[in-house]
Amino acid sequence: MTAKLINGKEIARKKRIQVANEVKKLKEMNVTPGLAVILVGDNQASRTYVRNKQKACHETGMHSELIEYEDTITEQELIKKITELNEDPSIHGILVQLPLPKHINEIKMIEAISPEKDVDGFHPINIGRMMTGQDTLLPCTPYGVLEMIAEIDIDITGKHAVIVGRSNIVGKPAGQLLLNKNATVTYCHSKTKDLKAYTKQADILIAAVGKANLITSDHIKEGAVVIDVGMNRNEEGKLCGDVAFDEVKEKASYITPVPGGVGPMTITMLLFNTLKAAKNTLNKE
Ligand code: NDP
Repeated sequence: MTAKLINGKEIARKKRIQVANEVKKLKEMNVTPGLAVILVGDNQASRTYVRNKQKACHETGMHSELIEYEDTITEQELIKKITELNEDPSIHGILVQLPLPKHINEIKMIEAISPEKDVDGFHPINIGRMMTGQDTLLPCTPYGVLEMIAEIDIDITGKHAVIVGRSNIVGKPAGQLLLNKNATVTYCHSKTKDLKAYTKQADILIAAVGKANLITSDHIKEGAVVIDVGMNRNEEGKLCGDVAFDEVKEKASYITPVPGGVGPMTITMLLFNTLKAAKNTLNKE
């Protein structure tokens, strides 16, 4: 079997057109969805992510603001800015780009964001709402993973989903969202003994680790759906996932490439969340 590709780039492109159309409609009602991004320090990777997020906002007609600080900023100053943005009616989504410098407590900053404007979906209130199956702002990467699975012809109910990785931003919420869709979910992590014994049972395998080639064809059940969240650099400096793509594609039924898989979906779901946050303000009026 050679797997069909789940083309994240193409799915993202279509979804962004949908977002742009909805932004247009909102603008006719005098609401321009607005995203504020706070960037602290001079991390080059963060700078690139932020630039891509802003570009995506502009392309869909949204308003976006970049607020930059030196890495000497204090927690109090940052909280003051977040509080201002919480109260700013032109801003519907607030995102603090992580990682933050060590002297700033990331959890404290996330909790300072109003849950209604938490477009990263990291606030404990939104995580709690997700856990209890309520409609809320979902963490962008796992949200994107679910949207990619929704594009293929597979009923998640009753499927065994194995998640490799248990971070708060990817692995854990990805498992929770699949559980909400009636999958049977197994989490694996760095302390899991005999990883293969679990991954080989997966109807849906999500790799969210950050280790190139961790998942090889002998980790996979014939016909599995394989979603590769990992973003790594191989020896030649090329972007690659956690999955040994060339061999795994011969066994899987569907597979996501890296690049062009989950990556483009993450920013797209950020746009969806910002749009949703903006629409929610209309419903409140
Ligand atoms: P973290 O480093 O926070 O988490 C990695 C997880 O992998 C941990 O739970 C860790 O276990 C587990 N792990 C580490 N080694 C092994 C192993 N040998 N076997 C099984 N599990 C292992 O990473 P993130 O969740 O933030 O990101 C994961 C990957 O996804 C990274 O490559 C990141 O760059 C990428 N990413 C991609 C995004 C996209 O848009 N495409 C967005 C976000 C992330 P333990 O908990 O025990 O330490």
